[in-house]
Parts: sequence; structure tokens; C-alpha cells
Amino acid sequence: MNVAPFSRGPQHIGARITAAQGKSFVVDTESNYSLDDSATPWLSAALPVAMKVNVPIEFDGTIDEVAAENSNGAQNILAEWYPRHYHRTTFGSRNASSTTGRAPGVGCFFSGGVDSFYSAITQHDRITHLIFVHGYDIRPDDETLGTRALEGARAAASELGKPLIEVRTTLRSAFSDAYRVPWGHVYHGAALAHVATALSPHLGTVIVPSSYPLHELRPWGSHPDLDPTWSTSAVTIEHGELDAGRFDKIARIVDSPTAMNHLRVCWENRDGRYNCERCFKCFRTRLGIMLAGGECATLSSPIDPTMVRRMYIEPARRRRFREALVELDERGFDEPELEKAMRSAIRRSYLLQYFPR
Ligand SMILES: [Zn+2]
Repeated sequence: MNVAPFSRGPQHIGARITAAQGKSFVVDTESNYSLDDSATPWLSAALPVAMKVNVPIEFDGTIDEVAAENSNGAQNILAEWYPRHYHRTTFGSRNASSTTGRAPGVGCFFSGGVDSFYSAITQHDRITHLIFVHGYDIRPDDETLGTRALEGARAAASELGKPLIEVRTTLRSAFSDAYRVPWGHVYHGAALAHVATALSPHLGTVIVPSSYPLHELRPWGSHPDLDPTWSTSAVTIEHGELDAGRFDKIARIVDSPTAMNHLRVCWENRDGRYNCERCFKCFRTRLGIMLAGGECATLSSPIDPTMVRRMYIEPARRRRFREALVELDERGFDEPELEKAMRSAIRRSYLLQYFPR
């Protein structure tokens, strides 16, 4: 695999990636801030894909030597987690570089969801910038959703008193999706690291809000062991807080009027709504807000048991759904209609699995 970085101006970098059988991809990443146009941001972007295809990489550019060294750790982790599908590979670059001075900024990825609000609020004092990415959860061509989510992130960042770094990238849609690199289990941390390291002119540290608390850790594309292995001599990547689970995080952010005015947890965009209020993520967040006694402008309450009864819960999410029932019980909530509806949704989802709608 050959990766040839290019620049279309200070705020727009890209790479032409030529893979096996002459397949070629052009990836563009642009921002309202200037970006690092060396090959370094393309290391985390290309490595998981090359490991899956099991080919070496040649970078037509300079790779940071600390990034090169650290990426051994990333390779070890991915190869150990997924030995059948991800293989250790090698890469070469034109030459190596390292930075002595690093930018003072501390960035934090900010999609406007529970994890990002939790990090933005609890680490407010050290964070200097929030980073919004269009192209990962939101498809690059979905301008409607992209614009609405960006407007929400801008308003939230401004209320939190932090400048918002806005990034658009086709990395996922134009490259990793073509190789079916699983976004959740493998790639999203590496994709965020692409953005974090591209922002090295401004940020010396970038926080990736945690996906899971310590006791729920599992092989996952963003993980406290994996994320730091994408760090360079210029940018340290930190994996956010491990102390709080989903409901604990919600309980913390309900106290923030900014979070309750702009919270966005849903990317389904059904009927063009800010949060669809019918999917599992919306439901779980509404339940958390209800348990914490909060009120959210972007997620209505109370929850309608009829809607819950009609939900289809995917097999992978049923355990979380049952945990939510336990949580209701443990917190002494007396919502018999809602609990009945949740149990009925689980039973119905088992049946629907075998008798598709
Ligand atoms: Zn939803």
C-alpha cells in the first residue's frame, strides 16, 4: 500500500492511497484550523487497513519517529485482539522527524453526546478547544444532519467558552469503509487519532472521551490501551475518564444547562429530527435523564410506554437493556408501565429476530 500525502492549502490535507491491484483512493481532511501536512496523520489512518489486508505500507513523506515507535503498540493490541483478521505489518517512510516544542492547546473531541459532554464538563479547566468531526458518525454527504449537528456543537462550545475546531473528512467513507474495517470494534479510535495528530500545530494533548468505564472494557476501536499508542512527539492522545458508566455520566451532565439544551445522542436522523426518540440510544439516554431527575430540551419526557413496547432491540444491545431494568429497580423507581413495556420489547425482539418484519 502506498500513501502519498498532499496539501491543498494550510487548512486542507489529503492523501492518495494506492492499494493492491492498483485500487486507488483519495482522502480529504479539512478544517477551520491549519493542519499538519506531513505523512504522520496518515499513519493511524492507514495502519489498521494495511493490517487487515496484510500488506506493508510505503509513505511518500515524513513520519514522526515517536509515532512510528508507538504504533508498534497499536499493532500488538489489534493483532492480539483479532488474531485471525489483523496481522502485524511493516511500513517505511521517506525520513523520520520529531518535534521538540509542542503546542500548548488541549483538545477534546466533541460530538455533542453524553461522553463528550461529560469530558467537556469534568475537564473544563484544562480543555482549550473542542473538536467536531463531520464524516465519521455523520456521512460526509449528509449535509442536513451535518449542518444541524454542527450548529448544536457550535452553540454548546460557545456556551462552554471554548473555540470549536471544525473538521470534515472523507477518511471513513472514501477509504476504510471500502475495506470493511469495522468502525466500532477497530477503526474509530485510529480515525480520531488521524484528526488529533493533524491538529498538532495547535494541540499538544487531545482527549478522546471514553466509550466504556473500567469495569466494562472490552476490545474496542477506542480503548485506554489503544488510543495512547497513536500519540506522536507533538500530540499526546489521552483516553477520557474510566470512572463513570453511562448512567453516572448522565447524572453528572443533567446539571449542565448547556448539555440539557444541546445534547445529541442519535445519528439516525429519522424524519430529520435532532434526536429520533425511538432508537435504543435515545431511549437509554432519556431513561438516564429521567433517573437523574433532569430535563432535556432535545429529548422529551416522559417516555411513552407504547413507543417502548414497539422498539426492536438488537441482540447485541439486549444485555444493556436488561441492565437498564436493573438500574430502574436499584434506584427505587416505580414505573410499572414502563418496566412492563421494556420486558415486552425484549420478548418481542427475540421473536422478531426469527420472524423478520
Ligand atoms: Zn435515536
